[in-house]
Amino acid sequence: MQKTRSPLIVANWKLNGGTDLICTSVASFLRKKFRVKIGIAPPYVYISNMANFLRNSQIMIGSQNVSKFESGAFTGETSAQMLKEVGCEFCLIGHSERRQVFLENNASCHTKVASALAAGLMPIICIGENAQQHDLGLTKHILYRQLQESLLGQDIKNKRIAIAYEPIWAIGSGKAASPESVQQVHEYIFNELCTIFDEDSAKNMRILYGGSVNKNNAAQLLAMPNVDGLLVGGASLDPEHFSEICALANQITPEVELTS
Ligand code: PEP
Repeated sequence: MQKTRSPLIVANWKLNGGTDLICTSVASFLRKKFRVKIGIAPPYVYISNMANFLRNSQIMIGSQNVSKFESGAFTGETSAQMLKEVGCEFCLIGHSERRQVFLENNASCHTKVASALAAGLMPIICIGENAQQHDLGLTKHILYRQLQESLLGQDIKNKRIAIAYEPIWAIGSGKAASPESVQQVHEYIFNELCTIFDEDSAKNMRILYGGSVNKNNAAQLLAMPNVDGLLVGGASLDPEHFSEICALANQITPEVELTS
């Protein structure tokens, strides 16, 4: 499949980083020009500052989570509307760490996706199987349920959505899935998106891969026809390493203007 959009490379800082990382990242990104789309999801408290620093750059700021509630007596929550107001353009939803540690599920993801879309944020919905499910050959079954239960019935007219395929066994393990297996899974996800929505809508949704991405495997992963970008955890905490990954993505992005 001919790629018609520039890749999207997203950094997930998780519960890491601080003023030093922000300063070095911002300095590093403001020095360089990229054709690829880049997103950074820092911890909540840094979002507003980073969005201000990077206001006129090509870097999007996003959040690692979003509340399923709009407002009210929900201590510790942050709504999609608030995130939008402080400069977020996207939010991660259903990251495996949220599912495992904070007991999020497909139903809560569905509500969060709806809130994000209503507020004008691009949801990046994280899906993926664990090691046992992988070994038992249940990957497609798990992805099918995650996609159906978080996406069916969403109002996506004129909205942006991305999916991040993140096999849980690959996250933080140093062992990324092979590019060929990622391609197969992404093709499956694309076909499911065509069924849930329609082919034109599916073609407008990027499918990212995440799980031990680094500068040594990024180019091979991005070379796969159905890989539209990367979600990077550990390697994104080193600004030079992360910008090398972005530079690799840049190399495979044609100079002609691609749709965003
Ligand atoms: C992640 O948790 O989203 C992730 C991709 O982590 P890592 O790159 O460290 O495997």
